[in-house]
Amino acid sequence: MSETRRTEDGALATVVSIKDQIRAGDAARARALAYGAFVRDAPLPAALLDGDLVLVAASPAWIAQGVAPDVAVGGDCGGLVGADDRGALLACVQEGVDFSRVLPSSTGDGAHKVWRIEFNACRDAEGQIYAVMVTARDVTGYAENVLRAERDEQRLRMALELDDLLVREFDLRTGELYFSDTAPELRKWCVFKDDPLEVVHPDDRQQCAEVVALRKNGEARVLEFRLNRDDGVETWVRSVGKVFVDQDGQPEKLVNLFKDITDRRRQTEAIETLAFKDPLTGLPNRALFQHRFNEAAAASEALGEMFGLIMIDVDHFKDINDTLGHDAGDALLKRLAGMLQRAFRSGDTVARLGGDEFAVILRGLHSEADMMRPIQTLQALLRRPIEHAGRSFTASASIGAVLHGDPDADPEHMIKNADIALYRAKAAGRNRSIVFEPSMRSEVERRIELLRDVRAALAQKEFTLFYQPVIDIRENRVAGFEALMRWEHPEQGILTPARFMLAFEDQELSLSLGDLALEEALGQMRAWLDQGVEFGRVAVNISAAQFRSGHLAEEIQERLARWNVPSQRLTIEVTENVYMGWGSDVVSETVRRLHASGVMIALDDFGTGYASLANLRQFPIDRLKIDKSFVQNAEDEAIVKAVITLGASMGMKVVAEGVEDAAQLAILKRYGCDQIQGYHFGRPMPAEEVAGFLKGFGA
Ligand code: C2E
Ligand code: CA
Ligand code: CA
Repeated sequence: MSETRRTEDGALATVVSIKDQIRAGDAARARALAYGAFVRDAPLPAALLDGDLVLVAASPAWIAQGVAPDVAVGGDCGGLVGADDRGALLACVQEGVDFSRVLPSSTGDGAHKVWRIEFNACRDAEGQIYAVMVTARDVTGYAENVLRAERDEQRLRMALELDDLLVREFDLRTGELYFSDTAPELRKWCVFKDDPLEVVHPDDRQQCAEVVALRKNGEARVLEFRLNRDDGVETWVRSVGKVFVDQDGQPEKLVNLFKDITDRRRQTEAIETLAFKDPLTGLPNRALFQHRFNEAAAASEALGEMFGLIMIDVDHFKDINDTLGHDAGDALLKRLAGMLQRAFRSGDTVARLGGDEFAVILRGLHSEADMMRPIQTLQALLRRPIEHAGRSFTASASIGAVLHGDPDADPEHMIKNADIALYRAKAAGRNRSIVFEPSMRSEVERRIELLRDVRAALAQKEFTLFYQPVIDIRENRVAGFEALMRWEHPEQGILTPARFMLAFEDQELSLSLGDLALEEALGQMRAWLDQGVEFGRVAVNISAAQFRSGHLAEEIQERLARWNVPSQRLTIEVTENVYMGWGSDVVSETVRRLHASGVMIALDDFGTGYASLANLRQFPIDRLKIDKSFVQNAEDEAIVKAVITLGASMGMKVVAEGVEDAAQLAILKRYGCDQIQGYHFGRPMPAEEVAGFLKGFGA
C-alpha cells in the first residue's frame, strides 16, 4: 500500500509503507523497522519518524501520556512541531541537525503537561540519515518554576515599591554597584564605599558593630539604626544585609535592603514613654528601672561585668511639700532629676521609683571609685540653692549604694542591700552616702535569708551525709562512723554545718534535717549490710527539736524496723544542752527507751556546756565525746585526763574528737582513751568512699 503526500516544499512524494519497504528489501527501512520495535518497548515517551517524517512507532508511554495527542502512528509528523519549526525538522532529517522544543500538551482528562521533546537524527554505518528519534521528558514542574520565578521577580518589584524598600547590590568581584530605583529619599543617605557603618549615625555605630560581630558569616543581619545624615533630620532605618556565595562557596554579592522605619519608631517611642517614663521628670519609671536592672544582672552573670546600684532619697521632702507647697516639691523633683542626669553618664539608668525616691544603675564599672565619683558630683550639685517662685531653698539627699562585683553573689539581693545602705545613711543623720557592706545586714535578715535558702535546698535534695571514721586504738580497728550533714551547694560546693548551723536551731527545719539524717543513715546502713561492708556503728547527731516532739524513741524504732537495721548498729549523739534544756524529763524518757532497745547514747561536745557529770548521772550515757577544743589545746591536758578517768569511773567509754596529729594521739593513749575521731585517721567522706577506707585501714 502506498500513499501520496505533500512534502514541505510543496512537492508531492510517494511514501511507501514499511511493510512494502521490507518486502522491497530496503535496508534503511528495515533498520527503521528494527528501531521501531525498540521504540515500542521503550519505558519512556519515545517515537520514531522515518526519513519521510512519518511516525512509524510510538512507545506505550508516549501514547498513554498523550505527548502529542493529535499525531497518530502512520500519520505525518509535521503536527509534532509548530509551523515555524518544520524547517528544523527538515534540517534534522536531511542534515542531521538535532534540536529540541518545549511543547505543552493536554490529555483527554484535561491534565496539562509541558514536554521537552528532543529530535535526534539516526544514521546508518555510511552516515546516511534514515530516521529521527523523538524522545520526550516531562518538564511540567520545571516549567512552572520558571514561570513562578518570573512572577516572583514581578512580585518582588511590587513589594519593593509598595514597601518603599531600597535594594543595594554590590558585586564583590567586579565592584559593580546597583541600587533599585525605589525609595529615592533613602538612597541619598545609604551610599557607602567599604564600611557599611559609614551610613550609621555615630551614636548607633557601636551597637550595630556588636550585632554585626555576633552574626556568623552568611547569616542575614538585621539592624535598626539612625542614618548618618548631615542635614540633621532623624531617620530610622531597618536594614537586612546578606552575602551571597557562588556554587563554590566563594562570596559573590552583598545585598542590603533598607527601609525607613522612622514613623514606627516614633510610635513605639510614644507608647514606651507612656508605659516606662515618669510623667513629672521624664525619667524611666520603676518598670523600666526593673527591666534595666535585670539586664545589668544578666550581663554581670554572663560577662562578669561589675555594676552599681544607687538609691537616693530626698531628705525631709515631706516638710518641703508641706511648708512650700506641692509646686515647690515638684520643682525640686524636676531639679533633682536634672542634677542626676548631669552627675551620671548618659549610659547609666537614672530612674524615679516614685515619690522622692530615685535610683541609678551604673554599668561597666571597674572599681568602687567609679561609683563614688558621680555620687560626689551629685552631692556638690545638691549644695546649690534652688530658686522657686521667688524663694530660694536648699535640699539634701541620703544615698545608699551597692556594688556588684562578686560573681558568686546573687544580684537579686542588691536592691534590698542598697535599701539597707540608704537606711543606714538616714539613720546616721541624712545628707550622706553609704556603701553597703555585708556586715550591715542584721542578724535577723541573715537568718531569714539562710532559712529560706535551706528550705529551697531541702526541696532540691541538696543535703547529704558524710561519714567520719571512729577508730578503736586498742584493737586498731574501725569502730564505726559519725554521720555528718553536708550541703552540696550547686554554686558553692560542699558546705559544712558551720554555714547552716542556724537551720538546726529552727524548729521546723531542724526536724526536716533530722528526718533526712536518720533516713539517709539507716538506708546507707542497710545498703552496707547488704553489700557485706563491715562498718561497725553509725552515730547520728540529734537536735533538741527532735526530742521536743516526744515521739523520737518510737520514731527511731519504727525506722530501724522499717530498714531492718539492728538497733545495736545505731548510736545517737546528744549534746549536754539538750539534756539540760527545756523538757529534760521528756529527753530523759526518750533516751532511756532508746537505750533499753539497744541504741547507744553518746554525750557530744562534753566539756563545753555547763552540765556536770553528776547532773548527767540520771541519764543512761554509754559514751562521752571529749570536745575537740580540749583535745587540740595542749594546756588542757589535765582536763582531758580528768574526763577520761572520771568517765571510766562511771562506766563510760571516752571518745576523743578532733585528733589531728600523732602527738595528740600519744597523750590520749597514755590516759587510756580508747576511741579516736579526727583528721589524723580520716576526714568525713562520702558514703561511696567508706568501703575503700575500711579495706585500706585493715591493710
Ligand atoms: P560535732 O557533732 O561535734 O561533729 C564533729 C565535728 O568535728 C565535725 O564537723 C567534724 O568534721 C569535725 N572534725 C572531726 N575531726 C576533726 C579534726 O581532726 N579537726 C577539726 N578541725 N575538725 C574535726 P562538722 O561536720 O562541720 O559538723 C559540725 C557540727 O554540726 C557537728 O559537730 C554537729 O553539731 C552538727 N551536725 C552535723 N551533722 C548534723 C546532723 O545531722 N544533725 C545535727 N543535729 N547536727 C549535725
Ligand atoms: Ca557529733
Ligand atoms: Ca562533737
